[in-house]
Amino acid sequence: MNKPQMITVLGATGSIGLSTLDVVARHPDLYQVFALTGHSRLQELLALCVKHQPQVAVVADEAGARQLEAGLRAAGLATQVLIGEQGLCQVAADPRVDAVMAAIVGAAGLRPTLAAVEAGKKVLLANKEALVMSGALFMQAVRRSGAVLLPIDSEHNAIFQCLPGDFSRGLGNVGVRRILLTASGGPFRETPLADLEHVTPEQACAHPNWSMGRKISVDSASMMNKGLELIEACWLFDARPEQVEVVVHRQSVIHSMVDYVDGSVLAQLGNPDMRTPIAHALAWPARMDSGVAPLDLFAVGRLDFEAPDEQRFPCLRLARQAAQAGNGAPAMLNAANEVAVAAFLERRIRYPEIARMIEDVLEQEPVVALDALDAVFAADARARELAGQWLNRHGR
Ligand code: NAD
Ligand code: MG
Repeated sequence: MNKPQMITVLGATGSIGLSTLDVVARHPDLYQVFALTGHSRLQELLALCVKHQPQVAVVADEAGARQLEAGLRAAGLATQVLIGEQGLCQVAADPRVDAVMAAIVGAAGLRPTLAAVEAGKKVLLANKEALVMSGALFMQAVRRSGAVLLPIDSEHNAIFQCLPGDFSRGLGNVGVRRILLTASGGPFRETPLADLEHVTPEQACAHPNWSMGRKISVDSASMMNKGLELIEACWLFDARPEQVEVVVHRQSVIHSMVDYVDGSVLAQLGNPDMRTPIAHALAWPARMDSGVAPLDLFAVGRLDFEAPDEQRFPCLRLARQAAQAGNGAPAMLNAANEVAVAAFLERRIRYPEIARMIEDVLEQEPVVALDALDAVFAADARARELAGQWLNRHGR
């Protein structure tokens, strides 16, 4: 029998992290947890360490490390505790690790995710922001190191499943006409436009089909999530932005589709539960039980499709423009969005101001080429600075 694979879960205390651990715990013969990382919820991280017995845990700072260590010792565990970005990169690249789940939210995940890529790991990519920020450099690093990159985002995992195994020869060479990226439309798909001024963070985070972290929930409400996913799809599948069409499909049963030149359209369907793409990527190219209930098509009853409304969802237009501009534009879009979403969650700006802030930031700055990671972080920092100034002028 083969040895269990050793897994590092970056962002273990988050929504994707917890779903990953749920799947892993179903297959103790196949997977063992090497490291767990968490930024703020130390009690939850401690409970996860007690349950999964990792060799290493990573927290944000010294104080957190001391607190976690005390809890670990009291529980009789010898788990080593590391700190900060350096600790994250270390557990991502450790020679004992086979696979890394990249599930930190936002730009904070870029360096640790790249560390896993550069170490040639099997990388399960949930942290879409990392790829959006640094696409060309990220994909170069994948090719150079021979890392196996598997998409966890449900849409990209669906597209991956609907593409032939040799899609890296080029979409045109394998007969693909378009990628059809599905979107639920989020909680505000039908809200009267005038009411969007007054929607609250709680309403934005109440997604009709998926339970997720707060940042991606707001992104789903604004459809910036779909915009980031458009850019993500272009990098993962070497597609041009015009080859990716967004289709609003409110049931979230079809997770995306691939349209071939002969008229065939292949789709991947399933209940909206992230354990399916997680189990798919962990076991790939095999299959294994994820704990997700079988899809009941009679209960689903119908599948609806509509075109996205860019007046309602200006973030989708902004992301498409950034995808077309390329270079530093996606990194700036992402950084401005992170600032805007945090400000909205803190009630410093209203929901429609998310898109206004991002558009103003992108208009103020010329697009620069990103030839190295330093340039990516410089574009990120510049956008955060401009967004901060915008917030000082317009925020509460
Ligand atoms: P979440 O907010 O629930 O969890 C985020 C995790 O990142 C937590 O473990 C947190 O401790 C950690 N973290 C936050 N800030 C950090 C920092 N500065 N340094 C180190 N760690 C930090 O988020 P989530 O919903 O699990 O999403 C995680 C990623 O997966 C995001 O990039 C998101 O876009 C992507 N994703 C999520 C879903 C979903 O269903 N939740 C679906 C597709 C893609
Ligand atoms: Mg998604």
